[in-house]
Amino acid sequence: MCVHELGLLRGVVATVEQAAASSGATRVEAVGLRVGTLSGAEPEALAGAWPIASAGTVTEGAELVIESVAAAVFCPVCDKAQPIDEFFALTCPVCGTPTANLVSGREFEVTYADMDIPRAHT
Ligand SMILES: [Zn+2]
Repeated sequence: MCVHELGLLRGVVATVEQAAASSGATRVEAVGLRVGTLSGAEPEALAGAWPIASAGTVTEGAELVIESVAAAVFCPVCDKAQPIDEFFALTCPVCGTPTANLVSGREFEVTYADMDIPRAHT
């Protein structure tokens, strides 16, 4: 089991718990997570640690839906973002210009939480 991923997920659980508490939700069906390929978090390890991180919280039993985000750098020569697939290869894959301007790949954020919000009877 990976302590690093577990720590990240505890933060995710805390975020969703706050959202659930403010909307009065008692159950969470699914949690969406955007994970960049350079974020240092492995989607497989996250999925494996999720039941442990969510146990005993409002997110217990919720499905963790991981959206992987490819890394990209902004190339000033091409004047656009170019995807990179090698870790730390901060070079435009099209024209070879070195660029440290990473525009995506480090994401680690909750995108949504699907919650059961009790509705008042009309
Ligand atoms: Zn380029």
